[in-house]
Amino acid sequence: MTLRGMSSSLDSAADSLSIGAEPVLRVGVSPPLPVLRFFLAGRYALADVTVGPGWCRAEPGDQGVVVACEETSRLLPSPVILTPCRQAGTFVIPAVPVGAGFHWNHREDLTYPGSLELVAAGSRALVGVNRVGLEDYLESVISSEMNPCAPEPFLEAHAVVARSWVLAQLGPPRSVEEARPPGVDMWEWFDRRNHDLFDLCADDHCQRYHGQSRKLAAASQAVRRTRGTALYAKGAVVDARFSKCCGGVTEDFTTAWGGPPPTGLTSVLDASPLPPEWPHSLTVEAGAVPWIMGFPPAHCSITDAGILDRILLPMDRATEHFFRWREEFSQERLASLIEAKTGAGIGSVKGLKALRRGSSGRIEILEIQGVRGVLRIGKELAIRRLLSSSHLKSAAFVAMPGEMIGGIPRQITLTGAGWGHGVGMCQIGAGALAAGGADCAAILNHYFPEAELAAAY
Ligand SMILES: [Zn+2]
Ligand SMILES: [Zn+2]
Repeated sequence: MTLRGMSSSLDSAADSLSIGAEPVLRVGVSPPLPVLRFFLAGRYALADVTVGPGWCRAEPGDQGVVVACEETSRLLPSPVILTPCRQAGTFVIPAVPVGAGFHWNHREDLTYPGSLELVAAGSRALVGVNRVGLEDYLESVISSEMNPCAPEPFLEAHAVVARSWVLAQLGPPRSVEEARPPGVDMWEWFDRRNHDLFDLCADDHCQRYHGQSRKLAAASQAVRRTRGTALYAKGAVVDARFSKCCGGVTEDFTTAWGGPPPTGLTSVLDASPLPPEWPHSLTVEAGAVPWIMGFPPAHCSITDAGILDRILLPMDRATEHFFRWREEFSQERLASLIEAKTGAGIGSVKGLKALRRGSSGRIEILEIQGVRGVLRIGKELAIRRLLSSSHLKSAAFVAMPGEMIGGIPRQITLTGAGWGHGVGMCQIGAGALAAGGADCAAILNHYFPEAELAAAY
């Protein structure tokens, strides 16, 4: 165990918090398809026969799923489970969409460990679900999310955060009910409850999971060194989150998601104590505007290319400006984005106003003032989706109008802070802390000061 300094709490809490055994996850690894082709790299048990190695195809039928391999063709009730005869057995799904909805999206043939479950999604489609042990899943997730050249304590901290998040998702469902505030037109957030056929999806919505294909030794070792360890607060596993860059302060859970906030997840200043000229209350415009328009010294404000190259994957490294960024909208582009996505008919945009900001300055409720009416939307991801053809980097922004013609700006420029929802561990900040010599326990203690480490199994 390399979690130096946290071993005493680990020992004392271990008995009461242990769930006994490593859980098996059901991860959705294909979108709903009318036909799913897959390659078995070894022998697999299918009902009362064994099949593979070789190609198979599965199609939904009226009474279940038809699975056709070289040896046999069977109609079986959904879900159909193919289990490897040897523990190390793997299967391949060709041309899996990777990075759906993001600019790096592409298709790849991906190899998975464990069992394949074929689940009917209605009578015309089915999805492929990978049944995989949590630790095996994490080895892949850490390899896919982060650069294996990153400092070891950072990869370890990431493994603990990702494990805690998964365990929280497997636990009792959290209430996500939250009434739409008066006067707000759109009130949306997106969480795991959107999945009903499996526990987790394989994309950024949950955590990037690319099976065996991306597993890298450094990430696997970080997972093994922290095996079974998770963050706990008040006797419950912490629903720990992470995002790329908080922008200097981490965000409140409730700015991004509905329902009461989980215990052990609070906003923290992602910096050493700040010089007094930096205001702390970013929930009010007088604090948020100078903070976002400025460049306060924070752990995640690093510009050192050598450290960033070690922390981030090449596809993320392509995003150059994340601590502070600018995006300019022409009136035509902004008005047409809003009309295309809402159909609200508010016409040309006169201005954008933050009605409610969270602790990091991210906007929870945005008012869009149009010539024919106003539109109020939340929460942070709904705002980021509305103002972009994919996702705006973050909802912590200040909107400045450009040249005015008849009371309508020709352009609106957003100056923004951070990348992602900003809740929980700030990946770039944690990487910078690790590069500066912090160990795994110190990193976790910084981002989750109310939590302690304990063994889940
Ligand atoms: Zn998901
Ligand atoms: Zn940060």
